[in-house]
Amino acid sequence: SKMLYNGQIMERDNVIDIEDRGYQFGDGIYEVMGVYNGKPLMMDEHMERLERSAREIRLTLPASTKVLKNNLEKLVEVNELKEGIIYMQVSRGIASREHGFPDSKTPAITVAYTREEERESDVEDQGATAILAEDIRWLRCDIKTLNLLPNVMAKQKAVENNAVEAILHRGDTVTEASASNVFIVKDGELYTHPADNYILNGITRRKIIQICNNELNINVHEQMYTVDDLLHADEVFISATKLDIIPILKIDDQTIGRGKPGEITKQILQHFRSLYEKGVRN
Ligand code: PLP
Repeated sequence: SKMLYNGQIMERDNVIDIEDRGYQFGDGIYEVMGVYNGKPLMMDEHMERLERSAREIRLTLPASTKVLKNNLEKLVEVNELKEGIIYMQVSRGIASREHGFPDSKTPAITVAYTREEERESDVEDQGATAILAEDIRWLRCDIKTLNLLPNVMAKQKAVENNAVEAILHRGDTVTEASASNVFIVKDGELYTHPADNYILNGITRRKIIQICNNELNINVHEQMYTVDDLLHADEVFISATKLDIIPILKIDDQTIGRGKPGEITKQILQHFRSLYEKGVRN
């Protein structure tokens, strides 16, 4: 399949320069977007978040998000992608390796590719196991940067324990998971960490909050909660573009609720699915 490189669609090889700052410093940002029925989902939100990430790390995007969006749509078309994801990253360009920014004439480098991927409906329906891990990331987790080593280490710990995710906590406070947001249900209401510098404000997370507020009439509290609250919740689920919504039935050795997907989680998941069957564009 083809890739996008600085606005051009080309073959996927020999394009990464060893002095790309994304490669050497993780100096860049990225987005992962879902594609369903050949249509990219919630593109405007992803483009808006990309712009914000760029601004926060003082990176100038090489093109308007409108142009970027058009290019990504073209890529999906050329690759005849029906169901899967688009990965896109923008690095601070190619320059002789110095930590400080390259001069302002050095253009940012944009790359994107697509990957066919089926939704894991069975995991969504049956639920999965998670583990706990200490959140050792920096204090700007709100930026979707290429620096993912702490996330990689946490996820690997999950993999080695046959778990779907590592749920992170800073001291007693649950933040999010290595590559997803975390929600708990207590007495019919939802709790999730507020969208501050300690978490990435997921597009899926925002959609869930919106659905609960506007359609399902479920109260959502964007407030901090503890590891103890997590382990004693009625229901726990995680959310991300790549995995949608997955009920968590066990964390380390602790069974959550009745040990099966909860009613509120199922209700949200069902509503969420009906959204992209309709081809949500926003
Ligand atoms: N939190 C982290 C650390 C992530 O890496 C991701 C996405 O991969 C998410 C949350 C979920 O974000 P989204 O719903 O936009 O995919």
